Amino acid sequence: MTLVLEVDAVSKAFPTPADPLVVLEGVSLVAGAGERLVVTGPSGSGKSTLLAILGGLEPPTTGHISVAGVDPFRLSAARRAAFRNQRIGFVFQEHHLLESCTALENVLLPVLATGRASAPQVERARLLLDRVGLASRERHLPAELSGGERQRVAVARAVMREPMLLLADEPTGQLDSQAAVGVVDVLTSMVGETGSLLLVVTHDDQIATRVADHPQGRRLHMLDGRLLP
Ligand code: ADP
Ligand code: MG
Repeated sequence: MTLVLEVDAVSKAFPTPADPLVVLEGVSLVAGAGERLVVTGPSGSGKSTLLAILGGLEPPTTGHISVAGVDPFRLSAARRAAFRNQRIGFVFQEHHLLESCTALENVLLPVLATGRASAPQVERARLLLDRVGLASRERHLPAELSGGERQRVAVARAVMREPMLLLADEPTGQLDSQAAVGVVDVLTSMVGETGSLLLVVTHDDQIATRVADHPQGRRLHMLDGRLLP
């Protein structure tokens, strides 16, 4: 198993007028390609903060992370952005699709961020839309899609560059249970193909079980900034 993620004694504190607010404390984790990790835990326990650190968006206060052998916080801002673009996929609770771009263009965004899309890349984006059940919606704008469909476009976009690490923060938080299952199923089938390490945060027990119920599934719990098995 290829090691993808190493989290070593990470803490995160935010300054406040009084004492710093400690949001994460002593978080350590090791995970490899193909694993499906689910993190559950109450609101405010630090789940989104952890994902922001793992995604290279927000540095830890103490401790280190490594994604595919690289500590993104040791890179310059420009190289870190390029590293994120190539290695890390993100699906948020809000789909964050560009409203003026079609479904196909949205899937191609990670490629368009660094230049023109090649013909094979456009083919891959089309294939991904087909794989998430939206082949007939290529030219539709996000406003013309349902919430579940928009999230499936967001999943296709997140795997466009075959990331080593795919992070999903409450990806089904705004969906009904049927649409939620549809989104989670495309998420897991995509990582089955790319071999990415998947880490999903959810407070939905049904979704957590669906992801973790796999030979490479693992469930973790976040409580008061600590990650528990
Ligand atoms: P969860 O995703 O588990 O609901 P979060 O990671 O979003 O939790 O937040 C954990 C705690 O950190 C909360 O108390 C939140 O208010 C606080 N927090 C998050 N981001 C910031 C920030 N930028 N500045 C100050 N406090 C923050
Ligand atoms: Mg959160």
